[in-house]
Amino acid sequence: MRKKIVAGNWKMNLNQADGQKLTSEIVNMIKDESIQDVTVVLNPPFVHLQGVKKLLEGASNIFLGAQNCSDKASGAYTGEISAAMLASFGVSYVIIGHSERREYFGETNAMLTEKVKLALENGLVPIFCCGEPLEIREEGTHEAYVTNQLTESLFGLSEEDMKKIVIAYEPIWAIGTGKTASSDQAQEMHAAIRAHLASHYGAEIANGISILYGGSCKPDNAQDIFSKPDVDGGLIGGASLKSRDFTDIVTSF
Ligand code: PGA
Repeated sequence: MRKKIVAGNWKMNLNQADGQKLTSEIVNMIKDESIQDVTVVLNPPFVHLQGVKKLLEGASNIFLGAQNCSDKASGAYTGEISAAMLASFGVSYVIIGHSERREYFGETNAMLTEKVKLALENGLVPIFCCGEPLEIREEGTHEAYVTNQLTESLFGLSEEDMKKIVIAYEPIWAIGTGKTASSDQAQEMHAAIRAHLASHYGAEIANGISILYGGSCKPDNAQDIFSKPDVDGGLIGGASLKSRDFTDIVTSF
């Protein structure tokens, strides 16, 4: 059985008070819902980590995540946050290679290899993002594009390390646009990603890896998307900023 995961990516949103309020609401709402086997992850901006962590005490199925970590271990890198620091603040998951980081901050597949390595060395679970831009989708080469992202960043990992990875497929044309991939389009890519993992690591490992969908996932489409056999949950941007929407997505399996 693969882990079902719903991770909220707050991106660069919410001041301290609003972040605390959102977290408290989510904790309270999730307490009242039966989510049994769903792992929930909140990925606030770094400055919120300690405050959110406090509010998660006692919420045993809600975990703390970060949105990024440095590709350097430590030292004179002003403004950077290391995987080791995150681990020391009680962070369990870290988003790596989000398309916004790739596009606006020049993150390359090679840099992401380093980030994944450092995250794993420090006991963090990488949520590794992949996904194609619109022109690649229109050209019809999206499968090759995405599998190449995985090959270049992840296929140097040992089997033991690969088992710890969570993958998020996020078609860039669906992020923040209100344009979701159809559940069939999501399933098709998730199956292709799993087959690609199996080609290198074998079916057993590939079948154990959770693959999340991201890109305008909302309460009204989550159930359809999560019903697909290779979709194991979601990475939620906009809808993770509203406690009711986020909780409704968490309960959409
Ligand atoms: P969205 O963002 O749900 O707002 O489309 C998803 C993401 O970028 O992780």
